[in-house]
Amino acid sequence: MTLHVVNPATEAVIAELEQAGIDEADEAVSRAKAAGPAWRAVAPEDRGRLLRRVATLVEEHAEELARVESENVGKPIAAARGEVAMVARVFHFYAGAVDKHGGSEIPVAGGIDVTFREPLGVVGLIVPWNFPLNIASWKLGPALACGNTVVLKPAELTPLSALRLSELILDAGIPEGVVNVLVGKGSIVGRRLAEHPDVAKIGFTGSTLIGRDVMRAAAGTIKRVTLELGGKSANVVFEDADLDRAASSAPDAVFDNAGQDCCARSRILVQRSVYDEFLERLVAAASRVRVGDPRDDATEMGPLISAGHRETVASFVDDEVAFRGDTPDGPGFWFPCTIVEASNDDRVAREEVFGPVAAVIPFEDEADAVRLANDTPYGLSGSVWTRDVARALRMVRAIDSGVISVNSNTSVRVQTPFGGFKQSGFGRELGLQGLEGYSELKNVYISTAG
Ligand code: NAD
Ligand code: MN
Repeated sequence: MTLHVVNPATEAVIAELEQAGIDEADEAVSRAKAAGPAWRAVAPEDRGRLLRRVATLVEEHAEELARVESENVGKPIAAARGEVAMVARVFHFYAGAVDKHGGSEIPVAGGIDVTFREPLGVVGLIVPWNFPLNIASWKLGPALACGNTVVLKPAELTPLSALRLSELILDAGIPEGVVNVLVGKGSIVGRRLAEHPDVAKIGFTGSTLIGRDVMRAAAGTIKRVTLELGGKSANVVFEDADLDRAASSAPDAVFDNAGQDCCARSRILVQRSVYDEFLERLVAAASRVRVGDPRDDATEMGPLISAGHRETVASFVDDEVAFRGDTPDGPGFWFPCTIVEASNDDRVAREEVFGPVAAVIPFEDEADAVRLANDTPYGLSGSVWTRDVARALRMVRAIDSGVISVNSNTSVRVQTPFGGFKQSGFGRELGLQGLEGYSELKNVYISTAG
């Protein structure tokens, strides 16, 4: 079972790897289990020092890692550099957090009561292809900080950066067996991890469809699960917004990573009184997006991940579009920046396209905006654009999503919790909250009776 890893911008095979099966998955779990006792015994401060070294090695190999990621995902090199920089910052953050993540003392009668944060044991980390290294780091950082050992399964399409990172983790001095990377099919080795009796938790990022499978498979052993799933986020633009800023930043909020972003603000809800004016500015901004060779420093959007995925994305678009951008000729899984006018009941507004397709939808007033924003099974992210602070606050409280921004389209920060409401999943990654998902709370009562 050889895996052919492809560069989506050239369609060239860039690596051939042996794929793991059930036996190899079980062996990886055994190695992680065997490494557990020694790893959890490393003093928190020393665990922090080792994670700090991983962060530094990522910084020292930043350009190499960015090129690997850019080539394997087809993402622009400038974006890949930004992502690798975040990977280093994530490890720095959790390096600093390790020895500050403790339990508490609770006043009780007849003795003292304290809580401890214990590692879970072996955790299985299953990640998607859109931000392979970034999302791996969001899980590895807190998992290792809390004293767990890990089996990491990258997506079949994009295993290269995780393999390189695992070498750097060894170079940093983290003992063999603590982090094990498993290259193989989700339906085989991913599923095995979710069912394995020696795996205590699955940290999963991927589609809502597969998230359901993982949750079901985890039920057999009452495994903990964190699910970071799909999204269909709303970018809500009111008539009193800075329309220039809102319109000029809206394309990036959908077309970044060629739309293959769970946080993509792929539903642009615009108040009807400024709808035409906004659409005009949006189209102008979209026409400036530079699509092309991911190796070029100036490129802003690359191809989609695969031919199959391009077919799926294409199925959402017919001939009637408000805007369709250009794509390079020749090989590569290119798809143009596309803007369609839609209603919230259209398929393009209901399902996650995961491609560079923005649906623009008019709304009447604040109540209508809330209704439309929430009329989706998802609840991951979103934005509100208005100069009215009170309205901004009412909107962010009313919208059912795990992260939301005002007069900005950013969702993800190292220091702040990230995760979904509704069918976008549950559990939080990043920030100090990320540590909660990788430790178990233990309560201890000690009698002071003489
Ligand atoms: P996917 O669900 O197809 O695959 C995700 C991972 O799960 C891959 O590693 C895959 O091999 C594995 N997998 C597949 N079947 C499995 C099974 N039965 N058991 C266990 N593991 C299995 O997702 P994808 O196509 O790689 O990524 C795109 C999806 O990821 C989108 O829906 C996107 O919204 C979502 N995503 C979510 C976030 C977030 O943080 N919420 C971030 C990025 C991507
Ligand atoms: Mn998939």
